[in-house]
Amino acid sequence: MTAPLDLLDLDPSLSEEERQIRDVVRQLVDDRVRPHVADWYEDGRVPARELAREFGKLGLLGMHLSGYGCAGSSAVAYGLACQELEAADSGVRSLVSVQGSLAMYAIWRYGSEEQKQRWLPSMATGEAIGCFGLTEPDHGSDPASMTTRARRDGGDWVLDGGKMWITNAPIADIAVIWARTDEGVRGFAVPMDTPGVTAREIRRKMSLRASSTGEIVLDDVRLPAAAQLPEAVGLKAPLSCLTEARYGIVWGALGAARDCLETTVAYATTRTQFGRPLAGFQLTQAKLADMAVELVKGQLLALHLGRLADAHRLRPEQVSVGKLNNVREALNIARQCRTILGANGISGEYPVLRHANNLESVLTYEGTSEIHQLVVGQRLTGLSAFA
Ligand SMILES: Cc1cc2nc3c(=O)[nH]c(=O)nc-3n(C[C@H](O)[C@H](O)[C@H](O)COP(=O)(O)OP(=O)(O)OC[C@H]3O[C@@H](n4cnc5c(N)ncnc54)[C@H](O)[C@@H]3O)c2cc1C
Repeated sequence: MTAPLDLLDLDPSLSEEERQIRDVVRQLVDDRVRPHVADWYEDGRVPARELAREFGKLGLLGMHLSGYGCAGSSAVAYGLACQELEAADSGVRSLVSVQGSLAMYAIWRYGSEEQKQRWLPSMATGEAIGCFGLTEPDHGSDPASMTTRARRDGGDWVLDGGKMWITNAPIADIAVIWARTDEGVRGFAVPMDTPGVTAREIRRKMSLRASSTGEIVLDDVRLPAAAQLPEAVGLKAPLSCLTEARYGIVWGALGAARDCLETTVAYATTRTQFGRPLAGFQLTQAKLADMAVELVKGQLLALHLGRLADAHRLRPEQVSVGKLNNVREALNIARQCRTILGANGISGEYPVLRHANNLESVLTYEGTSEIHQLVVGQRLTGLSAFA
């Protein structure tokens, strides 16, 4: 929400503390991420551990959780942080989302006191990195069909199976793994150095390249009974973690869109064709106006959902409304901005196509657009078209 893109003057709707948190994150991103992120993206490598420690120092990891070294910020403050992080790159925001909203939240919400004490403080500082394994090679949108199994063996659990497309898996110290048991789906806190656990980096990604994504193989992985998350019963547990992370995406995607639009306004006002700036053409102004309108609508929606979350009144289908709209519109904005930059639009010297490519992943993960349409459709009709 920066002038002049803040068409609706949303800034004063934020508290002083929210604005301060946003500005501190923006500064960190400007100093530590923006100067390097195009290279990280091109190389397909990101210094995740280093970044995690820097983010940890600032209290960004698990910032909306309380206790165990977490900052206990408001949902709106967390959303604003996601927006600033994703203005640099969706992969960098994903590092923070997966750590805080998926891995840490799962342990914070469903773990034993011992699990919380063991993992959360070091995850909050970024010393330990977490990942969240729900998706499998053959089961993405339909996690209820998962085939990863956990069976009891004496006092232990033994896990077999595999997880695919897992953010942070190749660099993680701890994985929250969801598996089918005789009693239904359960969650496990699995140290990545447990014998039988292997993680392989997925290469040749054309999107989210400044993020580590991997496959996890679980082969006869023996865990003590204490590794099971005691409060996680059934698929609703991992789905509640996804609701947390999707909320961050509602804000984050707009950061990518805002960065595209800021870049494009600056470009269009300085690039001259036919004797005048691109921004002086009515067709260009129509594009810019439509994009700015969608951006502020998305920000209003994110702020509304954030206020509902802070009042403990946010429902999962409302998060679906936000994820569906804001990611879809952010991707439209990124693609439209690319046209205004012409050939430069495909260059890594500008962030626009990188954001657009990243948003293709964001459109798919944490529930595809189609799945969120079905969630909203179910709310409207009372009929489930998918479960
Ligand atoms: C970069 C990246 C990082 C990721 N990180 C993680 C992670 O950290 N942890 C994790 O567990 N997962 C992660 N994922 C996986 C992600 O959540 C899944 O890709 C997503 O849930 C979709 O599953 P799928 O890819 O198997 O697609 P599929 O489920 O095979 O879907 C393919 C297409 O079919 C559509 N479709 C499916 N079912 C229906 C239906 N009933 N009606 C209409 N259309 C339907 C989908 O919308 C989609 O368009 C990540 C993915 C990516 C790309």
